[in-house]
Amino acid sequence: MNITVWNEYRHEKENPAVAGIYPDGIHHAIAGFLQEAGHTVTTATLDEEEHGLSQEVLERTDVLLWWGHKAHDEVKEETAEAVKQRVLDGMGLIVLHSGHFSKVFQKLMGTTCDLKWREADDRERMWVVDPSHPITEGLGPYIEIEKEEMYGEHFDIPAPDELIFISWFEGGEVFRSGAAFKRGRGRIFYFRPGHETYPTYYHKDVQKVIKNAVKWVKNTDTSRPVYGNAAPIEHISKK
Ligand code: ZN
Repeated sequence: MNITVWNEYRHEKENPAVAGIYPDGIHHAIAGFLQEAGHTVTTATLDEEEHGLSQEVLERTDVLLWWGHKAHDEVKEETAEAVKQRVLDGMGLIVLHSGHFSKVFQKLMGTTCDLKWREADDRERMWVVDPSHPITEGLGPYIEIEKEEMYGEHFDIPAPDELIFISWFEGGEVFRSGAAFKRGRGRIFYFRPGHETYPTYYHKDVQKVIKNAVKWVKNTDTSRPVYGNAAPIEHISKK
């Protein structure tokens, strides 16, 4: 499986606290545990030519992971559109944390994707609400994260095709933290945890979810539906 991990990669360069947690960037932390799981992983970042996402890169990518936050506006319209088209054509997409406000996710959802937030070291308990789902394989009834940013409802997304996790936060809010969508031939998984000032991507259960999710969003069906004017399959009798 060919995975591309895309990261805005700005907080790590500008905030020493974030660089202390992710010295080579969030993308390298994620790429590391996916490589260990046996996947072919490359990374791409905002400041590269075409944001590191040329048509050739997108075409050979089976699954794209997206982490962005403070520079969503700097992502070129044509790149966001090209990513959306590849998802409709079958590329798997995992949108992480503050990627909820990315052009790519908003285009695919068709809503604002807005939510409530707070940076106050809330404890997060993320409950598995679909234990039959392949993305939850190997997990217990919940994942506990000692400190995280709070995201709260209402989360302005369309009703997910599959709801997999709901988080509770110490301050009292809840949030649909793991939500799956199908768009065209593509599968999309939104996964909430991963604020840049916490070491969340080193959490073993968070890694397990992402490792399960890359398998789930990958399209294994290479056939394409045929659209447009269609000759009848059966003889149609004249009435
Ligand atoms: Zn955040």
